[in-house]
Amino acid sequence: MTDNGDNKTSAWNNPDFRPDLAFAKLTEEMVERIGSYGREEIFPANVPLFTHGERQVDMFVVLDGQVDVSLPTSNGESKVIAHHQKFDFSGELNLLTSQGSLVEARTVKESRLLRIPRNELQRLMRAEGDIANLITSATIWRRIGIIGEETSGIVLMGLVNDAETTEIQRFLVRNNYPHRMVEAPAEEISLPDNELSDHESTLPAVILSDGRTLHRPTITQLADELGITELPDPNMIYDVTVVGAGPSGLAAAVYAASEGLCTIVIESTAPGGQAGTSSRIENYLGFPTGISGQRLASRAQLQALKFGVRFAISRPTITAEQIDGIHRLTLAGGIPVCSRSVVVASGAQYRKLSVENYGQYENRGIYYAATAMESVYCRDNEVIVVGGGNSAGQAAVFLSGVAKHVHQIVRGNALASTMSQYLISRIESSSRITLYTESEIGKLEGESSLERVTWINRKTGESTVKPIGSVFVMIGAEPNSGWLFGTVRLDKKGFILTGGTDGFEQTTYATSVPGMFAVGDVRSNSVKRVASAVGEGSVVISDVHRYLADHRNNVAAEPNSALAALRLANAATAPQN
Ligand SMILES: Cc1cc2nc3c(=O)[nH]c(=O)nc-3n(C[C@H](O)[C@H](O)[C@H](O)COP(=O)(O)OP(=O)(O)OC[C@H]3O[C@@H](n4cnc5c(N)ncnc54)[C@H](O)[C@@H]3O)c2cc1C
Repeated sequence: MTDNGDNKTSAWNNPDFRPDLAFAKLTEEMVERIGSYGREEIFPANVPLFTHGERQVDMFVVLDGQVDVSLPTSNGESKVIAHHQKFDFSGELNLLTSQGSLVEARTVKESRLLRIPRNELQRLMRAEGDIANLITSATIWRRIGIIGEETSGIVLMGLVNDAETTEIQRFLVRNNYPHRMVEAPAEEISLPDNELSDHESTLPAVILSDGRTLHRPTITQLADELGITELPDPNMIYDVTVVGAGPSGLAAAVYAASEGLCTIVIESTAPGGQAGTSSRIENYLGFPTGISGQRLASRAQLQALKFGVRFAISRPTITAEQIDGIHRLTLAGGIPVCSRSVVVASGAQYRKLSVENYGQYENRGIYYAATAMESVYCRDNEVIVVGGGNSAGQAAVFLSGVAKHVHQIVRGNALASTMSQYLISRIESSSRITLYTESEIGKLEGESSLERVTWINRKTGESTVKPIGSVFVMIGAEPNSGWLFGTVRLDKKGFILTGGTDGFEQTTYATSVPGMFAVGDVRSNSVKRVASAVGEGSVVISDVHRYLADHRNNVAAEPNSALAALRLANAATAPQN
């Protein structure tokens, strides 16, 4: 049950909010069933069960009594957002992740509660499907409600159009972490204990819910601090390590974990991959009106979390080797992960333009994604989209709904060979998009951010200069396979060769290294689409099962070899953060 208070802007009052799902009660039969996963405890009145920032909190089911859940407010007090009574349960998205708690829960009167510890909760989620679905959906809706609260989460304070602020904001948005942006002019920022000499050097700043401030945090620092990342267990040999949490990696993780394999996903940035940067994917089966890549990724990540997948976010994999049949990956910071098999799903990254001063304007006017976040910078301004593929087409159509005008620049003489017909038709019929064929960007100018762009028609030599502050570059991608150079066989462009080429294992996704598979955009000759990436990620798990069955037999014949490999691997590099 919720208490909306008088905050009329909160999500709890939004007609689209689903309180019936956010605060669904367990039935008596369900509570009986889950009794064996926990233990009954009696708590006196006014006792905190968990508080803000606390990690790995247990789940509490109210058997008798009342538990109130509150969020901190900006004036230092707290606002009650839910009263949990008989057969209500505590927790939101952080029940499934390692994120710190965003809320505090406290008994109102003496209460008899069923405490379900975290490890038992994971067992419950795997074994009791109907209850797992009820809990998962409640955690999502509760998080939606919390994100809608004006005072929830952390505060990101930064300067307008600042590259570091944009990078942090993108990281928080793509990881669905509740936050508020405060665009503060430098002179309004108070300095912390005179330890930093000028205002700019303190920004961007992140104010955590416990009041601490992080000045110019790195993404890795922030991911660790907020519990967005969950580091690998150094004493564990995982059944499968998936590198990359784009559509193919997320699919592999869901299928692996749902089929009982102990699975970890390593992701250098945020779940979603390239698809996560798409404002609307319209050709993925089952979504007739399209779905944003970020939403698709969030759903898939939740599905994976429900099955117990561990996510190490913001830690790129930098090397891979195999010792006595065990794969040993090293993550940034020297963190080792040992695994019986590896699914490489590291996809591809955007190509850049070769124009002078280009790097200076990345995230300060040059963007590689056109989502709701970037659209804020171009409202009622003219913008440029560079590229003639589907992603550029989607961006142009999307931005034409917010920007004053979209100039689409392509090197070819038409769109037809590179773009789907439905997008070409929309571009041609839009009065807010102008197409410039056989053209390219010639010059970028601006003081601290992009202010002016020149483009040139290569055929006529005619150049156009316009005061434009946002350029969306969508000119294809290169494989993220650099970390595998010298380890697996790659094609001439750096994509991973799979499927029996030159005699290695005869399954479609096997690479030249036994037990290492590759799926999605990073694989040579793959179809570069969301649906095919998801398909490959799902199907590869049957290859993994076959490989593990053989491999386990080998390990059983030599029982000490896997442990010896793990010891060797972990001794080789001590983790540093
Ligand atoms: C803007 C845009 C719009 C698109 N729209 C559509 C569309 O409408 N329909 C469609 O079918 N396709 C679309 N695509 C293509 C589609 O998104 C890709 O084919 C798909 O995302 C490929 O999935 P993937 O999992 O193989 O790789 P990716 O999506 O590239 O994901 C790879 C992941 O691996 C991570 N990673 C990379 N290296 C490492 C490392 N060393 N360690 C750890 N993690 C690493 C990356 O951070 C990334 O998250 C679009 C692409 C873009 C860019």
